[in-house]
Amino acid sequence: MTMDALRFYVGGEWIDPLGRETMPIMDPATEERIGTVALGSAADVDRAAQAARLAFETFGRWPKADRLALLRRIRDLTAERREDLAQAMSREMGAPITMAREVQAEAGVGHADGFIEALEAQQERWTLSNGDTLLREPIGPAGLICPWNWPINQIALKVLPALATGCPAILKPSEHTPLSAAIYAEILHEAGVPAGAFALVHGTGPGVGDAIARHPGLAMVSFTGSTRAGVSVSKSAADSVKRVTLELGGKSPNLVFADCGADLETRVRASVAECFLNTGQSCDAPTRLIAERACYDAVVEIARTAAEETEVGDPRAEGDHIGPLFDRLQWDRVQTRIEQGIEEGARLVAGGPGRPEGLNRGWFARPTVFTDVRNDMSIARQEIFGPVLSILPARDEAEAIAIANDTPYGLAAYVQTGDPARAERVAARLRAGAVHVNGGGLGWGTPFGGYKASGNGREGGAMGLEDYQEVKSLHFG
Ligand code: NAD
Repeated sequence: MTMDALRFYVGGEWIDPLGRETMPIMDPATEERIGTVALGSAADVDRAAQAARLAFETFGRWPKADRLALLRRIRDLTAERREDLAQAMSREMGAPITMAREVQAEAGVGHADGFIEALEAQQERWTLSNGDTLLREPIGPAGLICPWNWPINQIALKVLPALATGCPAILKPSEHTPLSAAIYAEILHEAGVPAGAFALVHGTGPGVGDAIARHPGLAMVSFTGSTRAGVSVSKSAADSVKRVTLELGGKSPNLVFADCGADLETRVRASVAECFLNTGQSCDAPTRLIAERACYDAVVEIARTAAEETEVGDPRAEGDHIGPLFDRLQWDRVQTRIEQGIEEGARLVAGGPGRPEGLNRGWFARPTVFTDVRNDMSIARQEIFGPVLSILPARDEAEAIAIANDTPYGLAAYVQTGDPARAERVAARLRAGAVHVNGGGLGWGTPFGGYKASGNGREGGAMGLEDYQEVKSLHFG
């Protein structure tokens, strides 16, 4: 069966691209071509932007009640199509099917719940104590550029707040994951998004992403992806004075203290699982485990065992194994990083280069653990985006915090401790957009975003809506 993404959704209908360029869609588990995606151009972006400008005239003035009703229909239809979304992601980027259903596709429903609640609660008109009135208004047509690693999670975090606030949206999903995006476009169509208020244009970063960033008719661009591409988007957007929101990379620290006591094994095993979730391809993965000296040897041993017990296998099979990396490109990058770690003198205690035993095709990597890592090594500084954990020793709490913050990134941080006072103290010192203590997860509607080179702006819930809004003050004489 082939699965193609050859048409774009613009002006309320599926239409042919203006050019003829295409690219294969590859299954990372089999290395086989499963379909073809059409690659658009600046002309396709312009066509979608014109439809968006037109739609904004009316959609930008939709009452909140109508926008809420639209979001609820999208939420229900996303829940109905959860299996289709999960299957598509499993094929196009190799997410194991159980995780694709329970986490990847579920994010489309969960984020919708978060935005519905936030929009219900948001005041779009209120009066200050000085008597002036403030209004929240949609900023205007928005370009949305997404990565391949959490396809529907990222799309929902951008498309939903745009529509919730009355902003027409032009979505460019990753060229590697067009299939789930096309299903999401079908959901939006069926939910009754008005013509022009949503467009799907497939294409590459330089071909379509950059044209979105530059387009003078778009009021903002919301980008999720690598820091390298985020910087480029910011520069391209500057001439048209667009609002730019960025969700970028990470190299998140995980501080493990000896006071975990009897919970140490549970906490370290959970940390390894979190690092390897989605085959290590998560922007906020806890990839630098900083262990207090007093428990360092025990932590290394638990992490080594946990990595060796991590199963790698077919994404179509149910279970809690991890799948392949999304593409050959990514597999090559991960191999290079592992080899660099060895050359730099880190101690390899699990995994290493090559494929796991018994898997001779597909972009499968070995769950890998390096110990005795120094924070100036490339495996501690560069985002690897594969199942590779680096363990670093720290003398005490102060040194652990210093190592944790010694990174250009600031997306997330993790703390494992049996001492609630220490958890608060350490969390207050960490320069990151989220601090997870003892396995605590992020709820739907909680703002997600980074400090430093991990980006700016927050996605999800009330703060996610505000990114798409202007504030107008009204003064009555
Ligand atoms: P990427 O930067 O290569 O691509 C992301 C998107 O940007 C794709 O749609 C791509 O086509 C487009 N793009 C690439 N170059 C562009 C350019 N010059 N102008 C405009 N668009 C361009 O990233 P990726 O490999 O798809 O995704 C992995 C990266 O995304 C990692 O760095 C990861 O940390 C990051 N990420 C961050 C978050 C977050 O919320 N902070 C979430 C998921 C992924």
